[in-house]
Amino acid sequence: MSERMPVIFVSHGAPDALLKAPDAVACWREIAQRVPEPTGILVVSAHWETRQPTVSLSGAPETIHDFGGFSPVLHRMQYHAPGAPALAERVVSLLSSAGMVADLHPSRGLDHGAWVPLSVMYPHANVPVTQLSLARNRGAATQFELGKMLAPLREEGILILASGAITHNFAWLDWHAEGDQAPFPKALAFSEWVAERVTEKDFSALIEYRCAPLGSESHPTEEHFLPFLVALGAAGGEASQRYRPRFSYGGLSMDAYRWGNSADVVLAEKIND
Ligand code: ZN
Repeated sequence: MSERMPVIFVSHGAPDALLKAPDAVACWREIAQRVPEPTGILVVSAHWETRQPTVSLSGAPETIHDFGGFSPVLHRMQYHAPGAPALAERVVSLLSSAGMVADLHPSRGLDHGAWVPLSVMYPHANVPVTQLSLARNRGAATQFELGKMLAPLREEGILILASGAITHNFAWLDWHAEGDQAPFPKALAFSEWVAERVTEKDFSALIEYRCAPLGSESHPTEEHFLPFLVALGAAGGEASQRYRPRFSYGGLSMDAYRWGNSADVVLAEKIND
């Protein structure tokens, strides 16, 4: 019987986080050190959307460089973890038994929302990994319910890693920001609002985040917040640890959360701002 696995959410930041967000990178490394060794990883990233939930069957997922305009160094990076086709089948089975039709994709690789944090958390690329897509246009509540359906995986040694953003408004970014720049006030305010609702376990408010002050402004489009709701559903109301790396480009909150597996939580919040 394996230990119940935690659920992780990371804000993956801009595609160059590995080069430009050392604080977040340190945070991801620290989170991984506090997670029992998983037998497999299921990533839900903001960067794969399909009509209905889809899981990759790839046995050797390719590294997808789904961005442009950043350093060539990033385009050369590879993350060659083995795929997890058996886990993919298990995910489809779990969703189907809960009444949600899901598909298998024969070959889809890992987008940067997946491989960027994974390359820090599991640099040896020795843990099998697959991705589950976001079902386009299903709404926030569906993502929360989908997370609940995935929760049994936690008893099976599987790490659920959701990767998106707590704030994702490009108009708030300062591409020339220095590391010590104060966060954009609206981005900071929404990050704090999310953290307070997480502490209160006010799931309804988080699902209805677009009605919150700054909710829709923090997310002009939904896809970067939806992985957070998947994680919240999978976490099942367990206690969480919030991590607060420095904001990226001033306006991108890099907050991360770890739910469950909390007996070893000894560190205070990392506060850098
Ligand atoms: Zn992204």
